[in-house]
Amino acid sequence: MEFWFTEKQTDKFGITAKVKRTLHTEKTDYQQLDVVETEEFGNMLLLDGMVMTTERDEFVYHEMVTHVPLFTHPEPKSVLVVGGGDGGAIREVLKHPSVEKATLVEIDGKVIEYSKKYLPTIAGALDDERVEVKVGDGFMHIAESENEYDVIMVDSTEPVGPAVKLFEKGFYEGIYKALKEDGIFVAQTDNPWFQSELVKNVYSDVKEIFQVTSLYTCNIPTYPSGLWTFTIGSKKHDPLNVPEERFHHIETKYYTKELHTAAFALPKFVTDLIK
Ligand code: SAM
Repeated sequence: MEFWFTEKQTDKFGITAKVKRTLHTEKTDYQQLDVVETEEFGNMLLLDGMVMTTERDEFVYHEMVTHVPLFTHPEPKSVLVVGGGDGGAIREVLKHPSVEKATLVEIDGKVIEYSKKYLPTIAGALDDERVEVKVGDGFMHIAESENEYDVIMVDSTEPVGPAVKLFEKGFYEGIYKALKEDGIFVAQTDNPWFQSELVKNVYSDVKEIFQVTSLYTCNIPTYPSGLWTFTIGSKKHDPLNVPEERFHHIETKYYTKELHTAAFALPKFVTDLIK
């Protein structure tokens, strides 16, 4: 049965999509999980009523969360994705031939199960032999890791429920410890229109821990406000100073080496936020 789904992005504003039918709905141990088929964006994964990914625009987020840190690192071999149970970030990580092992730590096994069923072009890479999938808490995994990863990506939900801890300073300190001596991490840090405090606070926490900190953005039509931010913390390598020869060819639809640099050119109101 057709209906209009609205994600309330604030108490006064939302984004609406026409839904052809609901493919799955379930209250998991962690969150409300829905997969719906939309007319405009194909199958859409919703967690607690928030859009996580859609078949049509997922490439923007997954390419940008992955390729910016992975091209910044000279030879990423060991990569961790925290959250990201839809598999999109892992799919992009595997495009880098230097990667020997990609670990996914997703707290909710149901996200993995239903992404594989209803979002196979996104989740298919989770079955690759270089991938280890762990169903568990990313916060605990980080607390138990030391000097292990070249790149860590935090592909989490917004700071609600089990993801609240993933936006705290103690978590970023743990990430610093879990990274090797020239490691890099990136976190999705929501949007600067409705979540300006979050963008500001995460940036300031990361800046106190990492030698290099930068913010970059991309455009995602189905995410609140469309303008999305990512915060990078790096021990050594500067994402704005990547040698030309490091940009080997990979198939992408959004990321380019020119955009790698351009994405760090921020609108003035965003620069003002993180000053
Ligand atoms: N790209 C999306 C976005 O920005 O809206 C997020 C993708 S979604 C697949 C994020 C995942 O993080 C969810 O599946 C959720 O279950 C997972 N998650 C939340 N808290 C977590 C935690 N503490 N440890 C591991 N995974 C967590």
